[in-house]
Amino acid sequence: MTGILVFCRNCGKQVSSTEMRDGLCLDCRVSASLADLRREHARLWRKRERYRSAGANFGSIGRQVARVENRMADKIRELVSNDKQAGEYLKRELEAARGERYNLLPPRARGG
Ligand SMILES: [Zn+2]
Repeated sequence: MTGILVFCRNCGKQVSSTEMRDGLCLDCRVSASLADLRREHARLWRKRERYRSAGANFGSIGRQVARVENRMADKIRELVSNDKQAGEYLKRELEAARGERYNLLPPRARGG
């Protein structure tokens, strides 16, 4: 590990200066750049849930959600060059974005 240790000015975490950009650690940069998409995802997700519980057709909303998730994946890949790490960030973001509803699914249904 090269580079000195510095503090992220957002979360206060100590990270290597090589991972730091604009005073922010990678976690915070990913989180900040996904803020808009996360809000959009949450909006669509709630809408989808409303349609679903009302027995309406929510297929088209599901496709919009998938598009937002693809854009989230693209953004993460722009910021995180390591594929494995990018996958972990995406998984975490999607879990957070899908929120409670997602947590109700049995663990085995989460794959993919
Ligand atoms: Zn941070």
